[in-house]
Amino acid sequence: MKLLVTFSRKEGKKPIIAQVVRDTGVLVNVERAVIDSSEGEALIDIPDESCRVVKDKLADLGASVRILEEEISLDENECVDCGACISICPQEVFSFDEEFRLRVDAKRCVLCGRCIEICPHRALSRRIES
Ligand code: SF4
Ligand code: SF4
Repeated sequence: MKLLVTFSRKEGKKPIIAQVVRDTGVLVNVERAVIDSSEGEALIDIPDESCRVVKDKLADLGASVRILEEEISLDENECVDCGACISICPQEVFSFDEEFRLRVDAKRCVLCGRCIEICPHRALSRRIES
């Protein structure tokens, strides 16, 4: 399960993800993080069964948490198999099959949005996971 965590850094640099791991024992995979002097945002992946304990701990530490229910979606009618998304994706979500048709491994996606911006045919979008 992916969680989007936002936190303030105005009161100092607290290592909140490390605190969550230490205090809950849950192994947290940080898939994406953007941090500046005033706030931070991290996309983390955790086991589904640990969601409640991790969310509660993050809330105790002053972070806000949103469960990410979106995933990347391909409109096969629009895609022309140009490969632009393959080269820009940092997570190797896209590949070609034997017939050079685009394949998507959506579970690898960290929702950075780069492929959506670069696709010349607007064939990619975010949709709610089913
Ligand atoms: S960039 Fe768009 S059109 Fe090109 S392969 Fe990817 S999804 Fe298809
Ligand atoms: S949003 Fe697109 S570019 Fe970013 S990780 Fe997901 S599939 Fe790759």
